[in-house]
Amino acid sequence: MIPLDVFGSEAVAANLLQQVRWCDGVTCPRCRSDRTVRNGSYREFQRYLCKNCDRTFNDKTGTIFAYSKIALRLWLFSIYAFLRFNTSLSQLQYEIGVTHKTVHRRIECFTRALDAPSLDLVGPVEIDEVYVSAEKKGRERDQESRSRGLSTRGRGTYGSDKPPVFIIADRGTGQRYVIPAKAADESTIRLLLADRHQESLTVYTDGFRAYEPLESDDAFDREYVVHSDGEYADDGVHVNTCESHASLVRRWLSPHRGISKDKLTQYLRAFQLRRELYRKPSRVAKSSRAQ
Ligand SMILES: [Zn+2]
Repeated sequence: MIPLDVFGSEAVAANLLQQVRWCDGVTCPRCRSDRTVRNGSYREFQRYLCKNCDRTFNDKTGTIFAYSKIALRLWLFSIYAFLRFNTSLSQLQYEIGVTHKTVHRRIECFTRALDAPSLDLVGPVEIDEVYVSAEKKGRERDQESRSRGLSTRGRGTYGSDKPPVFIIADRGTGQRYVIPAKAADESTIRLLLADRHQESLTVYTDGFRAYEPLESDDAFDREYVVHSDGEYADDGVHVNTCESHASLVRRWLSPHRGISKDKLTQYLRAFQLRRELYRKPSRVAKSSRAQ
């Protein structure tokens, strides 16, 4: 349900930030001391005094929301709309009445703060790549990248402005990982599959050559489908889960067309977070049973 009360009142938004931020108790953002006392307020935000370093701070100090003249409730709304409804940043700039630069800076500040997914593969694992067109762009080149679209077919590299994005679907845990890379080559693939439970990991791929070296490696049990031969999914050997996840990735990136390839990682981490937050409950239950 949409938390409308948070977006409608700065006091409710401030209260939410306070609860989330200090869930393990209030500590000084400068010296980490927990010898703090309440010390007045800064607008809707609680202020504190650190008895260790004698400095004051408030609920926003040291967070991505500090030093913003825009109300916290509007930033929370922006992040919510971005994650939940895949709203483009240019749409948001009109909704909350700020400049293009401001909304980009704040939302990207948020996505940069997201952690990389930590892989812990159980298997069997499907792995596949999708290639998105993302350039090293300035705003003046927006038009050009827009016309090219994000879902150009064929394999590419980071250098050719079509960085590969690996999709890994772990059937053992129900987890999906979306990880951009500089190139779709053997060393990248080995690195992606390195964090695993078993000595030997069952890996399903398509016929792409970069996966071939896995065949002669004892650490992997590779099976593959060759799409061009008109081969169909056989005995569960397929990468269909990756393919349907790839279409979700494309849909996620589509309102943000023309994003720079340097920012692809952070946008995809936001996509990863979105899936964790809004996964259908039945699926969560199923995967936790499997664990
Ligand atoms: Zn302190």
